[in-house]
Amino acid sequence: MSADYDVIVIGAGPAGYVAAIRAAQLGFNTACIEKWLDNDNKLVLGGTCLNVGCIPSKALLDSSHKYIEAKHEFGLHGIETGAVKIDVPTMIQRKEKVVKQMSGGIGGLFQANKVTPISGVGKLLKDKKVEVTSHDGKSQVLTADHVIIAAGSVPIEIPPAPTDGDVIVDSTGALEFQEVPKRLGVIGAGVIGLELGSVWSRLGSEVVVLEATENFLPMVDQQIAKEAKKILIKQKLDIKLGAMVTGSKLKKGKSPSVAVQYKDKEGDQEIIFDKLIVCVGRKPYTEGLLSDDCGVEKDERGFIKVDDHCLTNVAGVYAIGDVVRGPMLAHKGSEEGVMVAEIIAGQKAAMNYDLIPSVIYTHPEIASIGKTEEQLKAEGVEYKVGTFPFLAVGRAVAANDADGMVKMLADAKTDRVLGCHIVGPSAADLVQTVTLAMEFSTSAEDIGMTVFAHPALSEAVHEAALAVNGHAIHMPNRKKR
Ligand code: FAD
Ligand code: AMP
Repeated sequence: MSADYDVIVIGAGPAGYVAAIRAAQLGFNTACIEKWLDNDNKLVLGGTCLNVGCIPSKALLDSSHKYIEAKHEFGLHGIETGAVKIDVPTMIQRKEKVVKQMSGGIGGLFQANKVTPISGVGKLLKDKKVEVTSHDGKSQVLTADHVIIAAGSVPIEIPPAPTDGDVIVDSTGALEFQEVPKRLGVIGAGVIGLELGSVWSRLGSEVVVLEATENFLPMVDQQIAKEAKKILIKQKLDIKLGAMVTGSKLKKGKSPSVAVQYKDKEGDQEIIFDKLIVCVGRKPYTEGLLSDDCGVEKDERGFIKVDDHCLTNVAGVYAIGDVVRGPMLAHKGSEEGVMVAEIIAGQKAAMNYDLIPSVIYTHPEIASIGKTEEQLKAEGVEYKVGTFPFLAVGRAVAANDADGMVKMLADAKTDRVLGCHIVGPSAADLVQTVTLAMEFSTSAEDIGMTVFAHPALSEAVHEAALAVNGHAIHMPNRKKR
């Protein structure tokens, strides 16, 4: 007897919906199960990324950046405004509109590609059967030749600061504030903490970021992290490193607040906030997802175990995105989705896990690809370094946006580019150009020989590549050639 579907995908986030679309494009009869409903009980597609992650956070980052420009920078250009004010509910409504538009777009793509969306909670049973329980409690069992699990992740909660959905919130709650908190605490100076802290700090909150580790952004090249920290401190983010949060006490009432206890090298400390955002990372979400006899194994941290091709230990069952190992990034999951669909179609698809760009959308952005200098040192690789500051890039100066630098690392002997790290304007897009070149095994010389448009921010990438071999033009070189 043939299965109900060729492919069933559980989860319609950026990993799952992309896998479903690609599978349908390849001719498979594909269904995608999603449990998320909006307030009107309508199915919500797009997962964390589109609804409470990448997109809404960027909408608020963009709104708050415009506010900063209007308030502090328009005057430099001779543009006069009256008093600049922020209407938070309007800003939040705009964000919601953006989310709706993007998430609704996935429904259109499903239709165009003939993916069947199924509303309900999916549970993997044995033999590639999937039970779907809809929100009215009815359930059905579907069969598939291939199952792709893309159930995503949820914020980690910590016992010292349990969220109450009002004063102490997670990243989702921090996208919903209806007014600017006067005193805002952020636990965790990771990607999400810095982005959300930046949004509210720009709008006027006094933001204190409490971070347990002594190193700022330990996963980022440390020269770039140091530069980024200087810039963020200049923007009035109070980043306390080596500050481990140990407890919190809520004060309810007319003006609610929270007293947060933390330990640093001087001892026990306490600080009071009007709102506290807990951003200490995310964990894979597998609640109710796997029946006891489905056979799929998880690792000790709760991630579904997969090989390099995202195949679980059960034939025909794959898992992708945040629910498996690797960086919790939307584009990582999407690429895994494409790879798995193509493998199911018998193609020789593979993914280059060494070249996944990562970006922190502060202003300026912090973006990385490949190895950091610290990693190359630890691996004993001999390397060359080229750096170039945005201060020497005409377009950046013209835009009054010249903080930061590009750093490129290349193999000392072969000149092959091994990493590129940027803190600066449009770093996300700039690092992508280097990612593309690295995918084709570029050398620093190749990038140096490429013609770059002038004036453009990308000239900083060109000059950093030239600097690797000591012949940057618009800056004195450490090593002359
Ligand atoms: P998810 O997006 O979490 O989607 C999983 C989906 O599966 C959900 O819709 C869930 O409802 C559904 N589901 C789960 N279990 C079941 C079940 N049993 N049955 C049916 N449905 C189920 N990443 C970036 O790359 N760039 C960024 O700028 C960025 N910014 C972020 C900002 C914030 C504030 C946050 C929180 C995250 C951000 N991320 C960013 C991370 C990114 O959102 C995630 O990496 C990405 O969403 C993971 O995709 P996914 O498809 O694996 O999981
Ligand atoms: P990320 O995983 O990038 O989202 O970053 C989360 C950050 O939260 C990490 O840098 C952790 O060190 C930090 N963190 C986790 N628990 C605590 C805690 N109790 N107090 C302060 N920082 C914490």
